[in-house]
Amino acid sequence: MGRSVSGGCHLRASWLSGKTRPLEYRVAQLEALGRFLDDKKEEILEATELDMGKVRGAGIWGSLNELNVTLNNLCHWMKDEHVDKNLLDSAFIRKDPYGVVLIIAPWNYPIHLFLVPLIGAIAAGNCAIIKPSEISKNTERLVAETLSCYLDNDCFAVVTGGVQETTRLLENKFDYIFFSGSPPVGQIVMTAAAKHLTPVTLELGGKNPCYVSDTCDVTNVARRVAWGRFFNAGQTCIAPDYLLCSVEMQEKLMPALRAAITEFFGPNPQESPDFGRIVNDKHFRRIRALLCSGRVALGGQTDEAERYIAPTVLADVLPSDPAMQEEIFGPVLPIVVIANMDEAIDFINARPRPLVVYAFSCDSKVVNQVLERTSSGGFCGNDTLMHLMLSSLPFGGIGNSGLGKYHGKFTFDTFSHQRGCLHRNMGLETLNTPRYPPYTQQKLGL
Ligand code: NAD
Repeated sequence: MGRSVSGGCHLRASWLSGKTRPLEYRVAQLEALGRFLDDKKEEILEATELDMGKVRGAGIWGSLNELNVTLNNLCHWMKDEHVDKNLLDSAFIRKDPYGVVLIIAPWNYPIHLFLVPLIGAIAAGNCAIIKPSEISKNTERLVAETLSCYLDNDCFAVVTGGVQETTRLLENKFDYIFFSGSPPVGQIVMTAAAKHLTPVTLELGGKNPCYVSDTCDVTNVARRVAWGRFFNAGQTCIAPDYLLCSVEMQEKLMPALRAAITEFFGPNPQESPDFGRIVNDKHFRRIRALLCSGRVALGGQTDEAERYIAPTVLADVLPSDPAMQEEIFGPVLPIVVIANMDEAIDFINARPRPLVVYAFSCDSKVVNQVLERTSSGGFCGNDTLMHLMLSSLPFGGIGNSGLGKYHGKFTFDTFSHQRGCLHRNMGLETLNTPRYPPYTQQKLGL
């Protein structure tokens, strides 16, 4: 499997040969991916743990699920879709592969976030270049060294490297680019794609608001929010980034959040095998600098040598505080006090459209109001992260949080061009006479 930027030329030749199109080929490659996940399970967990610290639970389950859903449905998804037509004609939508696609992945779930789009790219009959994140370097090395033993090297290649290598890679013409990462780099990718008029999917990030109404089960809210915020040490694109609630709810939530954090990670989360570390020093310092926002109500401890930041809750945070200026992407939960639901909705709508909006309330009318009056990539009422688990739901952003969608059949559709096809009957030419010139008065119906 190629590792250099120029290593993709042979992929175009393979694509043109038609090798990737038959169902049997696609299934064989997907099954090979399954063997990769199976054989390398321990090494993947080890590499992820080295990159991300302790991340038990953030394993390969999601990728396996996507693979199974795809293998079980591919035959059906690939079928031509027949549409309304005239007698004797054949009109259908062909699910055509794009060609040679590029998948650029981030570091926070370093296997899952390149594998799921790769599953869709293969299923849809494409050749693919995969560019894992250079920041999750142990996973990057594992993928670069071992994936080639499973996939067809004529059609699939891994390119390694950081900004410089990716910049060079993006100078090439691809037929589709699937990017997961930050909004600023998303802009760079889209600009590079525009030069070749290449379509893109951009799976980006941002600040996901979480509104907690006064009528809810505080214990359940605290457990569900703490799980979503502190999973993978907060380095999850759909983590609730900040809470919006009344001052009374903030008071009630504090002991409940403390109880949830202790339940999940024990009295000292630094010793918990289930609490991760910040991926590198740069991000550690960036997140630590946000702790001056509001007041530290829970946690706040840091250990630079380990890149440990305790599960932290910041109370009475102001919209102008540092924690509210950027996506936190760490184990820090600011609470911004608002008067009521209307103010929460105005607060959300005054900011870039997020990847997900969360709303908690025992009153389903409140949850529905937040859904109805805001806009975001996805929405989840009375829980966090769980909407991601359903491959029947499209996953993606809107506006600043991204463009396009994937998961389950949506991934297959993303990597397929819907080619509108009409296949006419060669005979019965007299029926065509009215559309040919000369346009006599009789033909024009005058
Ligand atoms: P990033 O944008 O810094 O990097 C993503 C990829 O782009 C990496 O492979 C990197 O090598 C490459 N890259 C970085 N700078 C580049 C440049 N100047 N030119 C070309 N390529 C470049 O993102 P990250 O730090 O790896 O990941 C964190 C971000 O990704 C967060 O914003 C998070 O919310 C978002 N994210 C989104 C999703 C999603 O599905 N929507 C999933 C995971 C992460």
